[in-house]
Amino acid sequence: MEVTLLGTGDTTGTPTVDCDCDTCERARSPDERLRERLAERGVDATDGVSRSRFSVYVESAAGESLLVDVSPDFRHQFLREGVALPDAAIVTHVHFDHLDGLGNAYRLFDDLPVYAADETDPVTGESVAEGVRSRYDYLDTVSVHHRTPYEPFSVAGLEVTLVPVSHPPLLCYGLRIEEPESGAVLSISGDTCYEIPDRSRELLSGADLALVEGIVHEEACEFHPKGGAHHDESGVPRTFGTKHMTLPGARDFAADIEADDYRIVHTAHFVPADRAFDDDIAVDSERFSL
Ligand SMILES: [Zn+2]
Ligand SMILES: [Zn+2]
Ligand SMILES: [Zn+2]
Repeated sequence: MEVTLLGTGDTTGTPTVDCDCDTCERARSPDERLRERLAERGVDATDGVSRSRFSVYVESAAGESLLVDVSPDFRHQFLREGVALPDAAIVTHVHFDHLDGLGNAYRLFDDLPVYAADETDPVTGESVAEGVRSRYDYLDTVSVHHRTPYEPFSVAGLEVTLVPVSHPPLLCYGLRIEEPESGAVLSISGDTCYEIPDRSRELLSGADLALVEGIVHEEACEFHPKGGAHHDESGVPRTFGTKHMTLPGARDFAADIEADDYRIVHTAHFVPADRAFDDDIAVDSERFSL
């Protein structure tokens, strides 16, 4: 299984438009040391470092490809990586940064099958699958396929399971993606706070690579109206507000699920510049062979 990180940022991305904070400035003009460190991770940062809106491209040994979340940065991501259009897509939840690239399906695809969960969200009154359909009902090229959480299904030569996580108020899903031939496993936490159902934790466990969301450093909880939650033994909050993990929360989560390797994704520009580019925090264009 080949995994390409198309988008690794939060909803505004890094650099953020019109922001001159130290982290955005460092992303626009990385110094030589950072460029060298990223080169060791296979990323060319000559023109800057990017964390665009979240999306992951997965190629199976069967030669098919699956897109996890359809980023508003879709066009730029595909031009940058030079990869083929995907055979299918999955949408984890209906937030803008994971869904709104779907308009790009117009004229590019004859048919783009989109898989999403079929559980009705009590807040919206519709499932993620129905949400995708209603927002893109004008696009005949998008076909929506309803799938039941915790029930594995096959797509693009991969076995995929939608795993409920916790991203209030909306329903959101992580993913276990397994390649039948090799047994390689990619786990994706989805947008979530630290506390998720045990059954979901078990399904995300034992991956060769885990992509775990971690939006900000723990100190940022002071500035969130709801503060932090799910503290560790030394009082460090692992959840920022109610719906995202902190960086320490993401690191603990990766350890809890015993991932062989992990990257933190969905990270915001609020992380101080001297910590924002740590080696375990993903940047766009990283690639992994599992
Ligand atoms: Zn900034
Ligand atoms: Zn979200
Ligand atoms: Zn998001």
